[in-house]
Amino acid sequence: MADVEYEPGSEAASNILKDLQEKLQTDTELQERAQELILNIQDIRASVNAAKAGAGTHRRGGDEVQLIAVSKLKPASDILALHAAADGGQVHFGENYIQELWKKHAILPTTISWHFIGGLQTSSISKLARIRNLYAVHSIDSAKKAVTLNRLRPDGFPVVNVFVQVNTSGEDSKSGVEPEVDGGELWDVISTIRKECPKLNLVGLMTIGAIARSQAAKEGEENEDFVALVKVAEGLEGRIEREEGVKVELKLSMGMSDDFESAIGIGAGFVRVGSSIFGARPKKADASIL
Ligand SMILES: *Cc1c(COP(=O)(O)O)cnc(C)c1O
Repeated sequence: MADVEYEPGSEAASNILKDLQEKLQTDTELQERAQELILNIQDIRASVNAAKAGAGTHRRGGDEVQLIAVSKLKPASDILALHAAADGGQVHFGENYIQELWKKHAILPTTISWHFIGGLQTSSISKLARIRNLYAVHSIDSAKKAVTLNRLRPDGFPVVNVFVQVNTSGEDSKSGVEPEVDGGELWDVISTIRKECPKLNLVGLMTIGAIARSQAAKEGEENEDFVALVKVAEGLEGRIEREEGVKVELKLSMGMSDDFESAIGIGAGFVRVGSSIFGARPKKADASIL
């Protein structure tokens, strides 16, 4: 089925949802898939808890780790299966492409909290801003984009939680602001959000990190990107306290399927896990929502 775009709140959109809900009740293939997804996420939740316990009570970020199920390129039925699960439905889902997120949010329950974690293009911020249940944007990489998101967020919609993406690995291919605390662009982005963007709530910092470092971390070394993000956060907290006289704790969005446990050990407050829950992803051209 081609992916049609439905107007959020429209009758057509709610009919699609009813249809999906009915299929989840009756279609054995979908039910088996739902079972598999639920077992996968229960495994991941157990690993999150174990990593948290292992890190002890002085962990940066305290006792809170939010698991974001990264559902990019996966069908709406997968998301609904996890969201509607009888014991502890998943609420937080992450997406990378604004068009895909727009289509999914229009047909799926409004009780889902969406996280946008993909590259942010100025031209598509307007669409993103109009997603009412957009919970967070993890990929703010300029003051201008923050100001644009703030300006285009409709009045009366919930405030959007934001993370500033930091390029801790220094790779040209990765977006994100350079990890400099003094001077530099990062402070400009942070203070612009704090002072000029009442519709945004600065939660913290995000990094993706280099694959090679993630593999080294799997073999027992600490991931340098995660360590770097902690340092930058500490530096920024110090600067905020010096310049504004307030103490804030910046949360860290870091860790994916391969490295979320080590990220939690180092102080992640948000982990973004996709393929360990949903399996390998199709090519973008082959993916469809329905
Ligand atoms: C795809 C993606 C993830 C999830 O990656 P997995 O390895 O599938 O867990 C997390 N964060 C970002 C920014 C992503 O693009």
